[in-house]
Amino acid sequence: MSLIVQKYGGTSVADAERIRSVAARIAARHRAGDQLLVVVSAMGDTTDRLQALAREISEHPEARELDLLFSTGETVSMTLLAMALHALDVEAVSLSGAQAGLRTDTTHGQARIVKVAPERIQQELERGRVVIVAGFQGITEELDVTTLGRGGSDTTAVALAAGLGAGRCEIYTDVDGVYTADPRVEPKARKLRDISYEEMLELAAVGAKVLHPRAVELGAVYGIEIVVASSFTEEPGTLIHGGVTMEQFNKVRGIAHDLDVAKVTVRAVPDQPGIAATIFEALAEHQISVDTIVQNASVERLTDVTFTVAGDDLRKATPIVEQVAKKIRAAEVVAEEGLGKISIVGTGMQTAPGYAARMFRALSDAGINIDMISTGEIRITCIVHRSDVEDALRTLHKTFELEKAAAGEL
Ligand code: ADP
Ligand code: ASP
Ligand code: MG
Repeated sequence: MSLIVQKYGGTSVADAERIRSVAARIAARHRAGDQLLVVVSAMGDTTDRLQALAREISEHPEARELDLLFSTGETVSMTLLAMALHALDVEAVSLSGAQAGLRTDTTHGQARIVKVAPERIQQELERGRVVIVAGFQGITEELDVTTLGRGGSDTTAVALAAGLGAGRCEIYTDVDGVYTADPRVEPKARKLRDISYEEMLELAAVGAKVLHPRAVELGAVYGIEIVVASSFTEEPGTLIHGGVTMEQFNKVRGIAHDLDVAKVTVRAVPDQPGIAATIFEALAEHQISVDTIVQNASVERLTDVTFTVAGDDLRKATPIVEQVAKKIRAAEVVAEEGLGKISIVGTGMQTAPGYAARMFRALSDAGINIDMISTGEIRITCIVHRSDVEDALRTLHKTFELEKAAAGEL
C-alpha cells in the first residue's frame, strides 16, 4: 500500500458538483488500495471574496484576524469533500491545519511551516480513512491560526508529503500541466513533460502562479517529485523533479508574467554608506518583499533609489518609505502603480550569451518600453507598463520559439 498525497485547487472544488467529482476520483484511488492524503483549497474565489469583505470593514484589517477569516474558506471545502466521500461510502475525515500538525512561525499572511507533526494524520490513515486537510493554513506555538501566502495550499501539500515520507505530490488544478507560458494568455504555449526544480522555482517566483514558489523549494529540499495535472481530465501532467539535464537545451524554458507590480523611487538621497540598508531594513521589518532594485550613479553626491514591490504591498510600503526618507534627508518619495513584469527563464541562459539582447530587441521592435531590468543566473526580467505585459509575453514566446520543442527535449 502506498501513500498518495494530492492537492485540489479552488477551481477544482468550486461548487457541489465539482466537489462530488473530486470525491469520485479520490474514491477510485482509495478503492484501488492506496492510502490517500488530500489537501484542498477554498472553493472558487472564496479567498478573494473574504479579502474584499475585510476591506469593506477596514482599510487596514489586522493580519491575525485576516488569517483566521481566510482559514474559514478551506474549512468549508474540506468538510464538504469529506461529506461527499461519506456519500460514496468511503471513510474520510477532514482536519484543519492545526489538527493536521502544520506548525508555522508567526508571520501572519506569509507564514512559513516550521514543523509538521504528523501523528494525527498517521492515526487516521492507519484506520483506513481518507484524510482531507485544509490547505494554506497552519498554527503558531501560541495557537494562532496563520496562512502561508496566496496560493499556499500547494505548499501545504508538499510539506505534508515530506512530513509523511511520501516522495511524490500530485497537484490537481484547472490546467493540465506546466506550460511554456500561461496558456490563458498565450494559446500557443506548449505543455512541458518535465521541468527542473530550479527552473520551476524561478518561474513561480516571478509570477507563474501555477505553483506556489515555496512548494517548489520544499520539493527540491526534500526531494519530493511534484506532478501538476488537471482535475478535469486524465491527461498526463508535468513532472517537476531534479533529474533533468537541461544544459543540452540551450533555450528559454518558460516565460512568466505578473500584472501587479508597483514602483517606488526615493529621490535625491545623500550618497553615503548605510542608506540602502536603512531603507530596505525598514521594509523587511514589515515583511514587505522588495523585487528589482536600481540605484542610479550619483550626481553631486545625490542619488535615486528605485525598487519594485507587489502592487498589493504598495499602500503598506509607501508610509514606511516616507518615514525613512525623512530620516535620511531624501528629497521625496514617488510611487507608481500600474506596472507589470515579464521574465524569461532557462538554465541554458547560463552558458550562452545573447539572450538579453534578443529580449530587449524583440520588445523594442514590438514598441514596448522597458522601465527597469533585473537579471538572475537563469532569468532576465523586464518591468514594463501593465498594459504591455500580455503583448510582451506573446512577442517573447515567438522570439524564443517556445511553441517548438528544443532538440533533446520531450
Ligand atoms: P489552483 O486554484 O488550482 O491552485 P491557480 O489559479 O493557482 O490554480 O493556478 C493555475 C493557473 O495558473 C492556470 O489557470 C493558469 O492560468 C496559470 N498559469 C500561469 N502560468 C502558467 C504556466 N506556465 N503553466 C500553466 N498554468 C499557468
Ligand atoms: N485559498 C488560498 C488562495 O486563494 C490558498 C490556495 O488556493 O492555494 O490563495
Ligand atoms: Mg494555486
